[in-house]
Amino acid sequence: MQYVSLGQTGLKISRLGFGGIPVQRIDQPKTRQMLEAAHKAGINYIDTARAYTVSEEWIGQSLQESGLRDEFVIATKCRAITAEEMERELNASLKNLRTDHIELYQFHNPSPEDFDRILAPGGAMEALKGAKAAGIVEHIGVTAHLAATFEKALACPDIETIMFPYNIVEQQGAELIARCHAAGKGFVAMKPLAGGAIEDGRLAVRYVLANPDVTVVIPGMADPKELEQNVAAEADAGPLTQAELDACEAVRKSLGTQFCRRCNYCAPCTVGIQIPSCFLFQGYLNRYGLQDWAHERYNTLKVKASACIGCGACEKRCPYQLPIRQMLKKVAADFGE
Ligand code: SF4
Ligand code: SF4
Repeated sequence: MQYVSLGQTGLKISRLGFGGIPVQRIDQPKTRQMLEAAHKAGINYIDTARAYTVSEEWIGQSLQESGLRDEFVIATKCRAITAEEMERELNASLKNLRTDHIELYQFHNPSPEDFDRILAPGGAMEALKGAKAAGIVEHIGVTAHLAATFEKALACPDIETIMFPYNIVEQQGAELIARCHAAGKGFVAMKPLAGGAIEDGRLAVRYVLANPDVTVVIPGMADPKELEQNVAAEADAGPLTQAELDACEAVRKSLGTQFCRRCNYCAPCTVGIQIPSCFLFQGYLNRYGLQDWAHERYNTLKVKASACIGCGACEKRCPYQLPIRQMLKKVAADFGE
């Protein structure tokens, strides 16, 4: 396992981090097993968030039970905009994580306008800087899906790390990532598998780590096999072979740019459609040729894509500006309902 400096924070972290979103799919004892195995493999960076339902709580309980709290750098985040909201959210994170300090606390995906409000007097930055002065939070970062937020974060001296999507099919951050590295800020690569759209996890992690401007990559892990594969990909870090570059090109051709990253920011749908699930099952149907399985899974959805009333509420919330209504029409046509 390679260890690198997280920007200028003074923290030494493993280049492979533990993405804490998918522990929601398992349970707390399995979360503990995953974290113990991650520790054994040399991983010392955990990414979680207030918004990932039970993730902070199960990670906190697991670290306390296993006595591994001090072995990890914990990075979490919340959507607070005002100082008051930040105080409340930070206290909830500390309680969930069963700790008296958090190494990295991040503003969770603010829009450029919300980022301005965070930095304004009475904004969340004020509270976070107070927590930093009190030793409760060691470092401050931001996560973003929009280049405009990334730009603002780069210009903010209080921001020490930036997290942004970066993978085989999402290159919109490449130039910003290079500037982030040059500015001495840590760069955390999220969505290495493009929200599950890229099937070959090993290639996906190899691709991201081949970029020296990436400090740490945080693939989500909830299965020992995923951990094993990610650790093997990290151990193999280095320039991509010609065969791997060709494989990346094939992935780009197959996915294009209009694909769902399964971030679920579009929720809730006005009529209850599980939008990312519709696109996931469609991917299984069309890209991976798993017809029976795809139909079986699609049938379990209570509200089908054809129920879309075209209100457009979801499209306003999708950070990738996907034409969801049009895409759902195609899902309904592919599945026949
Ligand atoms: S446009 Fe369709 S999918 Fe989007 S919120 Fe409205 S009903 Fe739901
Ligand atoms: S449609 Fe957009 S917002 Fe919804 S899950 Fe997919 S990428 Fe995310």
